[in-house]
Formats: sequence, C-alpha cells, structure tokens
Amino acid sequence: MTNESQDVEPNEQTQNQINDNLAQVRQLMSSACERVGRDISSVTLVAVTKYAQPVWVKALYQAGMKDFGENRPQQLVARRPQFAPDIRWHLIGQLQRNKVRPTLQNCDIIHSVDSIRLLDRIELIASELDVKPTVLLEVNVSGEASKAGFTPNDLMQSLDKFNQLKHLSIKGLMTMAPIVSTPEDARPTFAGLRKLKQQLTDEGIALSELSMGMSGDFEIAIEEGATLIRVGSRLYKGCE
Ligand SMILES: *Cc1c(COP(=O)(O)O)cnc(C)c1O
Repeated sequence: MTNESQDVEPNEQTQNQINDNLAQVRQLMSSACERVGRDISSVTLVAVTKYAQPVWVKALYQAGMKDFGENRPQQLVARRPQFAPDIRWHLIGQLQRNKVRPTLQNCDIIHSVDSIRLLDRIELIASELDVKPTVLLEVNVSGEASKAGFTPNDLMQSLDKFNQLKHLSIKGLMTMAPIVSTPEDARPTFAGLRKLKQQLTDEGIALSELSMGMSGDFEIAIEEGATLIRVGSRLYKGCE
C-alpha cells in the first residue's frame, strides 16, 4: 500500500469530486426512497474503501461520511488508527477465524458472518474481550456454488443456535447479488433476502438490518428494503 499517512490533505479538485459523487449518490438514494415511500434516514450509506486512496477516505470524512467498509480484516486493522476515531468501521468481506480477535478490537459491525463455526468463534472471543459485537449473517440467496454464506435453509435450521449466543448481537442479514447485466436482474435476490428476514422475525429472531446493494444496484436494493448499502467505486468516479 502506498502512502497511508493521515497527514495528506485532499486537494481542492479531489475534495470537489468526492463532494459531487457523494451528492449524486445521496440524490439517487433519496429518489429510490421516494419511489417506495421510505424515509431517507432509514438507509445508511457505507462507503467501501477497499480500493480507495487514504486521501479519498479523508475527503469523504470531511464531506460528512462516518460509515466506512473494508473487505479485508488486515486493511481494516491497519487503517482504523489512521483516521478519525468517530468513524464506524464495517467489515464486509470474508473473515477467517484466526482474524476474529483483531477484527473485534477494531470494527463496529461485521456484515459477513457466513458459518456457524465463525459465529461460535466470534462468541468465544467476544466473551474473552468482554464486548458485544453487532453482526449480520451473510446469505447466499441466489444459490450460486461459488458464493459464501448461509443457505436460506441453513438459516431456518439454526434458529435455536442463534438464540443461544449471548456475546454477540445478530442484527440482520447481508447478501451479494449475482453479477447481472442490468440492475433490475438483482431484484429477486434482494426481495429474497427481505422475505427471509420476515420469516426469521416471524420465528422470533427479530432482525432490523438488510445489507444489500452496491454501486451498480443500490437503488433497486433500497426499493426492496435495504437499510445498509455498500457503495465503493461510484464514490470515487473521476478521482485519480
Ligand atoms: C467491493 C465491495 C462492495 C462495493 O462494490 P462497488 O461495486 O465498488 O460499489 C460492496 N460489498 C462488498 C462485499 C464488496 O467487497
């Protein structure tokens, strides 16, 4: 990684570009909310920073962003101390069990819990650290073999397990849409996650969050009930 120094200030051009990109994303979020009668405050934009230069992260922070997402635990752990302490860091990518401890020490919410083994590990380390992390369960809604996550069936069979965990707080579900040619094609995946959340709630596992939608499809995800959208490349358009 090049220049991770916090001392670098974004130049005016970069700051303006980031401000414009953010304003555009917020406008699209707002229109999507209006189409389905949702309040914009019910959707949190998580700025995904995995490919972002540190100055872009800083420019986003200066534009008012407080939620940032990394997909690699190592980069999250390395970056957190370099940026403002009031940032909420989200882990959105795969977490290996041997990275759970540093992740819990540096991260506010984990979107990508994809197995019971990982859940058990988080429960154990959280009890040792005396913390109660917020986690989301990653679901493979579309059923692609290459994809991580619980199957909808696994989830419904694990309800007792979820109720037993005392050192973590399961707040919702996360999914990745398959790679599709038009955003509209992602809709069934997002609708599927929303229905699954309802099913779990009906079974007594009350969930409030749906993490779904990225640069190409966040408007559809909002229409289908996303409460957290994970947007990366769209925020850095024109930055170099
Ligand atoms: C990279 C990434 C995103 C953001 O993708 P963009 O298309 O750049 O918006 C969202 N979610 C996850 C899990 C990612 O790894």
